[in-house]
This record gives sequence, structure tokens and C-alpha cells, in this order.
Amino acid sequence: MLITDTHTHLYSEAFDEDRDAMVKRALDRGVQRFFVPAIDSTYTRAMLDLQQDFPDHVFLMMGLHPTHVKENYEAELAHVTDMLERHQFYAIGEIGIDLYWDKTFFEQQREAFVAQIRLAKKHKLPIVIHCREAFDEIAEVLEQEKDDSLHGIFHCFTGTLEQAQRAISYNMMLGIGGVVTFKNGKIDQFLNQVDLKHIVLETDAPYLAPVPFRGKRNESAYVINVLDKLSDVYGLPQDEIARITTENSKKVFGI
Ligand SMILES: [Zn+2]
Repeated sequence: MLITDTHTHLYSEAFDEDRDAMVKRALDRGVQRFFVPAIDSTYTRAMLDLQQDFPDHVFLMMGLHPTHVKENYEAELAHVTDMLERHQFYAIGEIGIDLYWDKTFFEQQREAFVAQIRLAKKHKLPIVIHCREAFDEIAEVLEQEKDDSLHGIFHCFTGTLEQAQRAISYNMMLGIGGVVTFKNGKIDQFLNQVDLKHIVLETDAPYLAPVPFRGKRNESAYVINVLDKLSDVYGLPQDEIARITTENSKKVFGI
């Protein structure tokens, strides 16, 4: 079984004590491809080091996370622009709008989101969207920016069936993670109405660990628990879910 974790923060400080062992646990269980989203420039060095340590397994993204859009966001965007010229990345992410934590920089978040969508178009890369309490605001931007080249992943999708269909209409796959295993997560109730060709797996490690690890540190090996749940939801064997979602990840990232 070849499993792809399309969203994992392997460079996080949460793994400083046991990073190599954590990656090995995932590799041993068949999780062989890790797509690693950026947050801001303070993590770039750690991301590049990680890619050097696991060149066959780690695929990096570049971008400015919406909760890290602050007074200095223009300098951060310049860093993203510069890095894209100098290294290979497989997506622009994670980018988007987050109105849950703080609305102070809403306008700047929106502006950074649009600017990074345009970078994705320029470099012919997919986008990986972070959305929290901002579905309508994000849909509005996608409506304005949509074209033949714009595509990507709606990471940690937790919306309604209607929102799932709207995201898919913008050429987005749905990144499904630990929330699908939560009792009150809700998406497990309609997901079987969404064709599997639109679904990719993710952990968002170290956050949002699936049941039975809910509330603990998440790690990429736990993507298996998400896979198990999707196997129930779709009534398909695990290896079939792994195969299809890995194929989907290859379509999105081009590798
Ligand atoms: Zn993330």
C-alpha cells in the first residue's frame, strides 16, 4: 500500500525530539509521500533541511499562511517570490483566509491570498488553501481568479456538502484529515456523495490527530486512521482508497 500525506508540518518544533523516528514510523506503515506546507520565512531553513534528509519522500510547498499575515506581510511575500525562483516547490501553500483567530489583518490576508494565487499561475503550480470561518470570502476570491490553470486542494475540508461541491467547481480537491473521524465532525455523513476522485488524504500533523489519538500530537503515520475511516464511509477496501487518493495527489502535484 502506497499512502500519501498531502499536508504534514514535519519540520514543526513538536517533532524536534523524535523527528527521524516519527518519519520512519510513517514509512514503515506505507506512508511514503509527504507534502509539506509552508507557514512563513522562519521555517524555510528547516524545510530545506528536511527535504535534504528525505529527498525521495518529502515534497515542499512555499507560501505565507494566513494567520502569519502581519505588519511585515509584504517582506514575507517577497521571500515567497524569491524562494520560488531559487528552489523547486510543488505547490503554493498554505494560503487563504482565517477569520477564526484574528480579523485585524483581513484585508491583508485577502491581498496576500490573491498575490499568491497569481504566483501559482505564474509558476504553473497548484494552491493549497487554508480556510477557517472564511468560506464565502475564499469562494469570492476563487470566483474572481478562476481560470483553466487554477487548481489545488482545499486543505482540512470541514464544510457542508454544498461547500464541497462549490470547492470542487473551482478545480479543488478536498483534503480530508482527522476531523472525518470525530464524532461531531459531520463530514463523514455526506462524504460518500462526493466522488473519491476529488479526495486526498492528509494529517495536518502535529495538529488535529484522528480518533483514537484525538487531542494528542498528530503524526503522519496516523493518516492510516483517516484511511480506515474513509474505507468505512465509501465501503471500499483500504488499499483501494490508498491507491485512488495517491493517484489524485499525483494529479494535483504533478509528481
Ligand atoms: Zn497546515
